[in-house]
Order: sequence, then structure tokens, then C-alpha cells
Amino acid sequence: MATELKVIQSDITKLQVDVIVNAANTSLLGGGGVDGAIHRAAGPELLAECRGLGGCNTGDAKITKGYRLPAKFVIHTVGPVWYGGRQREAGALASCYRRSLELATAQGAKSLAFPCISTGVYRFPKELAASIAVQTVRDFINRSSSLTEIIFCCFSVEDAQIYERLLSAPED
Ligand code: ADP
Repeated sequence: MATELKVIQSDITKLQVDVIVNAANTSLLGGGGVDGAIHRAAGPELLAECRGLGGCNTGDAKITKGYRLPAKFVIHTVGPVWYGGRQREAGALASCYRRSLELATAQGAKSLAFPCISTGVYRFPKELAASIAVQTVRDFINRSSSLTEIIFCCFSVEDAQIYERLLSAPED
């Protein structure tokens, strides 16, 4: 069955999906931005589970339960900090999307929402990040996927417009 790709402008913590993805840091012990919002909405049990995970490398991902969130699971992935583009940032960002999709598929998830990983305090350029996100997700679902719905959850209108444009363009 085909996977539907959607863009919405929303707070990701409000979404009723099987999995939301968190743009975490390597400690997995919480932070600002979307990470802070997810921990606040999920409650202290999330941090307790995260403490047992031993952190996470950049470009990798780990899964926990969603606790008080409407989402059943949270996949915590660690995006690269943008240092100008010569530190393999693009490859690391693509890996975040791929590893998250692999874990969601292994969990049997049908619906998943991504935030705009690395584009906040990690300073990854928004347009480039969005094109890597869309390309990596398209490549993954073209190979096989049990997911029926993948949402790009944008916090700003500007981000949502970038994704709308990319998704309405034909695939490469
Ligand atoms: P990073 O450290 O990976 O850059 P940030 O949390 O600083 O992570 O920013 C990543 C993206 O998440 C930014 O586009 C930011 O606007 C967005 N964001 C912040 N809070 C939320 C939220 N509650 N829901 C969805 N996206 C959010």
C-alpha cells in the first residue's frame, strides 16, 4: 500500500500518531526546543526511560514509549550540528530520518510524524534540511514500508511552505 506524505503546521506533542520523532541531543536527557516540549508533555516517566538508554550517537535513533503523549512511541534521534557543511552534516541528517523509519517499521508503526530535525539550535539550513528529509523519506518508502502515513510536522509557517513546495514537486 502507498504511504501518504503530509505536511502540517502544529505542535508535534499534540499529534495522535503511532510515533513522534524527537530531535534530541546525544545525552537523551532532555533539552530545549522540541525536545523540551516532548519531555514536558510526556511527563517524568519519559526521562526515566531515557536514562536507561545510555545516550545516542549523532545520526542514530532510539525508541521509547510515549507515556502521557497521545503518540504511542517516541523515537529520539540526534541530528548533526551545522558547522558549514563540510563535517558530513548532510549524511548524518539523512541517517536520522532513515534510522527513525527503520525503528518505526520494526515497531509495526503505521503513522509517524517528524519535526524539522537540526534546524533549530543546531542551525542546519532549513531548505537543505527539508530537501534531505523529503528525499530520504521517499527513498525509504519506495523500497518498502508498512507505514501508511508520514507527517512532516512544521512549527513555523515558513517551514510548512518549504515542505509543501518540495512535496508538490515530482520525484527526482
Ligand atoms: P535541533 O537541536 O535539532 O536544532 P530544535 O528543537 O532546536 O532542535 O529545533 C528543531 C525544530 O523543531 C525547529 O524547526 C523548531 O521550530 C521545531 N520545534 C520546536 N518546538 C516544537 C514543537 N513543540 N513541535 C514541533 N516542532 C517544534
